[in-house]
Amino acid sequence: MSDPHTLSDRLAFIRDRIGDACARAGRDPSEVTLIAVTKTHGLDVLRDALGAGLTDLGENRVGELVEKADALADASGGAPTWHFIGSLQRNKARDVAERADLFHALDSPRLAKELNKRASGAGRVLRCLVQVNISGEDSKHGVAPEALPELLERAQAFESLNVCGLMGMAEPAAPEDLDRIVRPQFARLRHLAETGLWREAPLLSMGMSGDFETAIEEGATHVRLGRVLFGARG
Ligand SMILES: *Cc1c(COP(=O)(O)O)cnc(C)c1O
Repeated sequence: MSDPHTLSDRLAFIRDRIGDACARAGRDPSEVTLIAVTKTHGLDVLRDALGAGLTDLGENRVGELVEKADALADASGGAPTWHFIGSLQRNKARDVAERADLFHALDSPRLAKELNKRASGAGRVLRCLVQVNISGEDSKHGVAPEALPELLERAQAFESLNVCGLMGMAEPAAPEDLDRIVRPQFARLRHLAETGLWREAPLLSMGMSGDFETAIEEGATHVRLGRVLFGARG
C-alpha cells in the first residue's frame, strides 16, 4: 500500500506528538533529540531526511554506518550527527570509534576497553551510552541492571570514552499495554540513570516508533524512530 504522505508531513506529525508528550510531562521539546533510524535505507532516503531538517541519523550495522557516513561526510548543510545503535563486536570497534558521535550500546568492559583504545588512536573522545536490558527478555542485548554499577565504574575510568547516559529497549507492546508493560521499564531506566555518577545530567536513549511518547513522558532525551518516519522496512 503506498503512503500518500511525504517525509515532511510525517515529520511534522511526529514533532507534534513529541510536543504533546513533552507538554504532558512539563518538559521542553528542545530536551528531546529525534534520531532518524535510517538502517536498511539507501542514501537517497538519508538525503531526504537531511533535506527535511533531520540532523541526527541512527544506524545499527557497522558496514552501513561506514558507507553512509563516508558518503555524507560533505553533505550540503553539514554532515549528520551519527548514532550507532546496534550491538557491536570488538573487531569492528574501530569503525565506530572513528565515526560515531554517540554510541548507544556499550555492554561490556572488554568492549569499553577496545573502544577506548580505538578512540584514543583516532584522537577522539567517544561519547557512549550503556545499554541496559530493561525488558528482561533473553534476546535483548545490554547489561543486566545488577551489573550496571560495575560496568559504569570501569567504563567511566577510560580517558577516551565519555560515558554520558543509558540506553534501553522496552518489550514490544500493543498501544493498550504501554502503561502496564512499557512505562515501568522506562521508569526503571530513568531510575538507574539517577543513581549513577555523571559529569553532566545523564542522557536517556529510550523510545522507538511504538512507544516514544511514553518514553518522553518518562524522561527520554533521545528517541530512535524508524518506521514512523520512513515506513516499514523491507
Ligand atoms: C531499528 C531500531 C530502532 C527503530 O525502530 P522503529 O520501530 O523502526 O522505530 C530503534 N532502536 C534500535 C536499537 C533499533 O535497532
